[in-house]
Amino acid sequence: MSHSTLKRRQTHQVQVGHVMVGSESPVVVQSMTNTDTADAVGTAEQIKALSDAGSEIVRITVNSPEAASKVSEIRSRLDDMGCLTPLVGDFHFNGEKLLKEFPDCAKALAKYRINPGNVGKGVKGDEKFAYMIRTAAEHDKAVRIGVNWGSLDQSLAKRMMDANLTSANPKAPEEVMKEALIVSALESAQKAVDLGLPENKIILSCKVSSVQDLIQVYRDLGSRCQYPLHLGLTEAGMGSKGIVASTAALSVLLQEGIGDTIRISLTPEPGSPRTQEVVVAQEILQTMGLRSFTPLVTACPGCGRTTSTVFQELARDIQHYLRDKMIVWRTQYPGVESLNVAVMGCVVNGPGESKLADIGISLPGTGETPVAPVYVDGERKVTLKGDNMATEFLAIVQEYVEANYGAGGKKRNEAKVIPIRSA
Ligand code: SF4
Repeated sequence: MSHSTLKRRQTHQVQVGHVMVGSESPVVVQSMTNTDTADAVGTAEQIKALSDAGSEIVRITVNSPEAASKVSEIRSRLDDMGCLTPLVGDFHFNGEKLLKEFPDCAKALAKYRINPGNVGKGVKGDEKFAYMIRTAAEHDKAVRIGVNWGSLDQSLAKRMMDANLTSANPKAPEEVMKEALIVSALESAQKAVDLGLPENKIILSCKVSSVQDLIQVYRDLGSRCQYPLHLGLTEAGMGSKGIVASTAALSVLLQEGIGDTIRISLTPEPGSPRTQEVVVAQEILQTMGLRSFTPLVTACPGCGRTTSTVFQELARDIQHYLRDKMIVWRTQYPGVESLNVAVMGCVVNGPGESKLADIGISLPGTGETPVAPVYVDGERKVTLKGDNMATEFLAIVQEYVEANYGAGGKKRNEAKVIPIRSA
């Protein structure tokens, strides 16, 4: 595979509201609320925050009549705020009943997530599944058939385990279970097509909580269908564990061109914002060179040559400043998401890295003259000193953005991402 081109696994293109999901489109970032959907105001506010952070699709739980009755109000509230982000309804045991009783909910959603393992058993389960699929087809909605390790269709698992026992070369039980996940997704998708849902309305996922299992399952699933795939490690966990596990699994698959939309299932630490999962999803795609969302800050890790916290604070403040600014910059300064800012701790690598970035600052290390040269497009532009270095540096960043990404700017609309092509 060329380093300058990434080959995507070829898929159907699925429209979710105004967002296209599939191999002809960039990998889409999505997230999920953790508010009670019956709280329309709180849920709309969280969706708006997730959307402002960069979530292109947001999923909400639709688990009760109280929740379903508020979905169209949530949609209207978002529309009134100018937030057009498509909403996905996460249905489980009573999805068919809720879609039947709340037709406004069925219309307001752009996609229904259906878990075949939680729809119900036997003929009754088949009828419920069929009702949900027909409702989606009638309203021209997309569907994600989302199979999950923790709620795998038990009758299918038993059928496959029994067949394995009598086979000439029985596989290990965990291999049969992985195969059962894939079969559950593919058989459910085929049932949906047989019920009248077009293939280009279907997205699949098979979530598991182990990195190696996820990679194996998605490689296999991807080779057996042309549906776009929703990637995510389920129950990834909290803090660095959740981020690292998700990044490890998704990076391998994305590098192989597998995955058309991603969600990072982080358990938020108490008090931390829900939007963290969006930031992580964006950073995975951006650091892999697949998409650009927010200007990147290159910062050295620091070491014994820089014992003050000045450069750590500056790197943090700049990252926050850029992320906050992106809410308006995204439309005002197209292409600014590819900006690269370097914040370096001393003279060893500072000037070199700073020259490579669009804008860089090389702060003084311990014992160095307390001045900070600033480089713009590789040239030394100014040397900052004193207590206001951070404010003065941010003013230089703002000035650079206006000049280069504003009307007539030479970097406006300039994309710095690896081109993709379908397999
Ligand atoms: S740039 Fe300087 S402070 Fe930063 S890690 Fe390298 S040697 Fe240490």
